[in-house]
Amino acid sequence: MTVLVFLDPAHPAGRLADAASPAILATDQGVTRGDGVFESMLAINGVPRKIQAHLDRLAVSAQIMDLAIPAADLWQGAITTALTAYADTSPQASDAVASALAEDQCVVRLIATRGPEGANAPTAWVQVSAVSPALAEQRAKGLDVLLLDRGYDSDLAARAPWLLMGAKTLSYAVNMAALRHAHKLGADDVIFTSGDSLVLEGPTSSVLLAHISDDSGVPVKRLITPHLDTGILPGTTQGALFAAAKAAGWELGYGPVTPADLLDADAVWLISSMRLLAPVNTIDGAEIGTRDIRERLSAELSALLAQTL
Ligand code: PLP
Repeated sequence: MTVLVFLDPAHPAGRLADAASPAILATDQGVTRGDGVFESMLAINGVPRKIQAHLDRLAVSAQIMDLAIPAADLWQGAITTALTAYADTSPQASDAVASALAEDQCVVRLIATRGPEGANAPTAWVQVSAVSPALAEQRAKGLDVLLLDRGYDSDLAARAPWLLMGAKTLSYAVNMAALRHAHKLGADDVIFTSGDSLVLEGPTSSVLLAHISDDSGVPVKRLITPHLDTGILPGTTQGALFAAAKAAGWELGYGPVTPADLLDADAVWLISSMRLLAPVNTIDGAEIGTRDIRERLSAELSALLAQTL
């Protein structure tokens, strides 16, 4: 079940469209060039989570690529219309899916393209659909991950703004290809590294690692994520978790992070709005920490993250 609501000047709360019928011109530059921006956010029981952070990042992504998109209040109206329509029409989740997800969760995607060639008007819509049960499984079981070279150095973002690094653009074909590559090799997911061997991010997630030390009898818990200067996407989930972890007494740090840091960590996670916190069991076949520590820290941080949802 998918609900589509187009942002349309003639419909201030958005225009519902039939998701099973064609709705975009074949000349739309989002289709022909992947020229556009998007966001994916989680809604629980009909309430979108971290909506302001997602609207802010959508605006920044659009600004980076000189794309004029509708104002935040129009997105808000369309999101409300879409979630209401989804709640009205969505059949009850099957028992298996409902228990895997524990709550009534759905994905809300905000998408804006440069519009049809020559029209100088963006195409923008909200799409609401079910959360994949596979994501809930990843949170519970954890992931086997491969390190893959992204092929450029960590200082490229500042030197080459035309590469749109740090923007959430529609051009995710490379990210999906990296995932397929990992799946063919029997892994679940990927952590990209830079040409100069720094840890970057996953194809659809931020990377997080924890170090626990107990030097003078006082346990110190430290969470680290790669620095944004490396051109990675600023993760809204990582940002929310860092704020909650700081309030709970964790120390926070921003990279540089090397592959050796990951292998030395007590725990590593891939974290994103849809997947939330998925522990990494192995990287290139090497176990990260121990299962006990991974499970304990994952439970602690998942509880903190749940407070932010
Ligand atoms: N990095 C990339 C490349 C992503 O695609 C995503 C999410 O899709 C993230 C990080 C995590 O972002 P968020 O926590 O805002 O979902």
